[in-house]
Amino acid sequence: NKVNRKIPTEKKTDSQKTGSIRAELAIENGPPLNEEKDDSEVDKKVLREILEDEIIDSLQGVDKQAAKQIFAEIVVHGDEVHWNDIAGLESAKYSLKEAVVYPFLRPDLFRGLREPVRGMLLFGPPGTGKTMLARAVATESHSTFFSISASSLTSKYLGESEKLVRALFAIAKKLSPSIIFVDEIDSIMGSRNNENENESSRRIKNEFLVQWSSLSSAAAGSKKNEADNSNNEDNEDDTRVLVLAATNLPWSIDEAARRRFVRRQYIPLPEDQTRYVQFKKLLSYQKHTLMEPDFDELVRITEGFSGSDITSLAKDAAMGPLRDLGDKLLETERDMIRPIGLVDFKSSLEYIKPSVSQDGLVKYEEWASQFGSSG
Ligand code: ADP
Repeated sequence: NKVNRKIPTEKKTDSQKTGSIRAELAIENGPPLNEEKDDSEVDKKVLREILEDEIIDSLQGVDKQAAKQIFAEIVVHGDEVHWNDIAGLESAKYSLKEAVVYPFLRPDLFRGLREPVRGMLLFGPPGTGKTMLARAVATESHSTFFSISASSLTSKYLGESEKLVRALFAIAKKLSPSIIFVDEIDSIMGSRNNENENESSRRIKNEFLVQWSSLSSAAAGSKKNEADNSNNEDNEDDTRVLVLAATNLPWSIDEAARRRFVRRQYIPLPEDQTRYVQFKKLLSYQKHTLMEPDFDELVRITEGFSGSDITSLAKDAAMGPLRDLGDKLLETERDMIRPIGLVDFKSSLEYIKPSVSQDGLVKYEEWASQFGSSG
């Protein structure tokens, strides 16, 4: 049977074994594989669970239940995002390629002075594509993607949070290259002088910082070992774990945590050209009557809109032709429904407004010039 056939049975070194486990797990994560791809979805799931159990058994000093939760809820499978799905943000994409994607794909080139960063922060107004970028980085660097937020660590697993953080980092190292994506990092790494900070969130924060530092010491260890044994892949893999975080509130991040994000990339509101590309993309599979001057007008009247505001606007405008029909919608042939027009966008604009204010923007720009990485 296929499932049994794929379980590594012969004796392998730990590194070879992890490599093959990683490859199997990656089936739904997307990296290109040489494995057969004819397994049914059920087979894949069973296979994955068996491999996950093997990994969990191989981890030392990690709570098994916590590790199971990491696999069940934190490791993201499927639903890939590629660079091309993201409109604009060229400088952010370039920065991420240089800081993460290239080093992960060519670790041999990124050593010593070129050693990759272990923390990168994406900050800016909500809905500007920070989460999309993180997912694209994981896809393009063929990494295992772990996605956590304060709520996934705190409320649900009260009391178990530190174990979960330890398990998270242990599994990320085992399955490296890995991206640990922390959405709304400000709510995990909030300022210490925040009075609302309770004992449990303080403990999570400390554990996270400890585990995060352990990545750097693993890297330091790997450099030492590199001289002793340049073929040791495990050490090299240890260095390929990155904490990538996103926030809409960069000014609320604890200073100690902020300093660990060596790169801080501003993700601004989309510029004219970016909004143009996004509208084109959103309408590309729809029947519409918009001509070039209409797109120009759309771009002009959506100044200050975020990427997600634009998506909401286009979704709402796309409903226009259906709304016109009322109940007749139920018996109208698909071909008879009128195309989407500029008029639909204009009427949607009456109640879909930009979610970021001018004052809000100024605050981001000030923080970017004070703490952001250039480029
Ligand atoms: P953030 O994490 O910055 O709050 P997201 O990445 O979650 O924003 O984006 C929210 C939604 O907005 C996405 O699912 C997508 O539909 C849309 N969006 C935002 N920015 C872009 C972009 N640059 N290109 C295409 N879609 C975008």
